[in-house]
Amino acid sequence: MSSTSVGQSDQSFKGLLARYEPVIGLEIHCQLSTASKLFCACKTEFGSLPNQNTCPLCLGLPGVLPVINKTAVDYAIRMALAIGATIREKSVFARKQYFYPDLPKGFQLTQYDLPYCENGSMLLDNGRTVRIERIHMEEDAGKNIHGDNASYVDLNRAGVPLLEIVSAPDMHSQEEAVDYLKKIHAIVRYLGVSDGNMEEGSFRCDVNISLRRRGVEKLGTRTEIKNVNSFKNVERAISYEIMRQADLLDSGESIRQATLLFDAATGRTSMMRSKEDAPDYRYFPEPDLGPLYISSDRIKAIAALIPELPEAKKKRFQEAFGIPEADAAQLTEEAALAAFFEDVVLKVESKVAPKIVANWINTEFMREFNNRQSSWQKPMLSSDALAELLRYLGDGTISGKIAKTVFEEMLEKKASAKSIIDAKGLVQISDTGEINKVVADIIAQFPDQVAQHRDGKPKVFGFLVGQVLKVSQGKFNPALVNQSLKDALDGNA
Ligand SMILES: [Zn+2]
Repeated sequence: MSSTSVGQSDQSFKGLLARYEPVIGLEIHCQLSTASKLFCACKTEFGSLPNQNTCPLCLGLPGVLPVINKTAVDYAIRMALAIGATIREKSVFARKQYFYPDLPKGFQLTQYDLPYCENGSMLLDNGRTVRIERIHMEEDAGKNIHGDNASYVDLNRAGVPLLEIVSAPDMHSQEEAVDYLKKIHAIVRYLGVSDGNMEEGSFRCDVNISLRRRGVEKLGTRTEIKNVNSFKNVERAISYEIMRQADLLDSGESIRQATLLFDAATGRTSMMRSKEDAPDYRYFPEPDLGPLYISSDRIKAIAALIPELPEAKKKRFQEAFGIPEADAAQLTEEAALAAFFEDVVLKVESKVAPKIVANWINTEFMREFNNRQSSWQKPMLSSDALAELLRYLGDGTISGKIAKTVFEEMLEKKASAKSIIDAKGLVQISDTGEINKVVADIIAQFPDQVAQHRDGKPKVFGFLVGQVLKVSQGKFNPALVNQSLKDALDGNA
């Protein structure tokens, strides 16, 4: 591939989007979080010693028969139901034949012309719908590791169950592609069918992308970017590829159908193999495995176990708790976070509005949660402890500013909000006599600012409030300070 220099400015990107429409489809590979592999009893755990989790079947030795993993099929059904797809009563596993050192059998078992799931869809934030053409089950290949003087083959991953989720080419920007990918990612985690760990490769995607002139119906020649493994890189890879293809088309060249790799270090794509010599896989139905039958009773039983999904939860949070869409979206990214929020809302016993709880969790709490690499199995602070702190904030015992200090101390000292507030005497002061006295002192100390306030300079009032609060070391009730200062300056005191 020629390394054409690509214009990077926003202006030129907008310009090329005025001429060309990107057409994007995603194939997501999602590893199912079953304990054992798709056709044998070997463990699927990540990080074992090389080739520790193998047996004659996944090593490709002769004379052994595959047996399908029931849990993997149940998980696959869950996913199909979550995207509103049709589940085929009778689906078939086929051999996809090719040679590669990490594929000792010489074929991969996958579903070809009769996948178990078809015709789902996903609604994007911008209101557009992406059709999901199909989902099929397949086994993963092993892994080749290339050292300085030798190459190694690790077959721990060979036979691990995957879902391949194939969208129609319905997306038209990198933002839409990332939104779609994030939504699928959230769903597999809500359903508990995959850990969605992108760093370990259990959630990765191939991006198909082509450009066509605005107003033209016919699709352009597409390229496929393989195995992109983060949301950020999907966005970068698509942006780069849009610019690269536009540059070629602008200079009258044609796009070559090819499989590309994205290099995260350089932000560029490069050719992996040309599609012209795409191997003929000679698919045929796996003779050692009968068709897979999925009964309507089984589907019904699994449907009953589908939890509330992110989109529905987000809507409910907006309506039931009166919180803005952006906050609700953030809270529902993960089921455990959403559950934590609801738990705290319950435990503040209406002393604090859910909107304030949402703010606290999305900002203060999540910042520390991420900094400390905390986990939902054992969060750094329990919902009880956070609710206690927020109750003190809600009933006016402490101010918002003090609450942040107390929060930090709770984490450092692993102590309760009450013990910190008591020990440091942080209780908010609402004694108007005491407040009025300090207000009078400040007015006497800053005659110039008082004069400016009377001349109508609005910013000076905030300065004077700040001075009063400073004297009180943040303990005065800010609402009462505001009122007292207003009264004093307007001569009502
Ligand atoms: Zn095995």
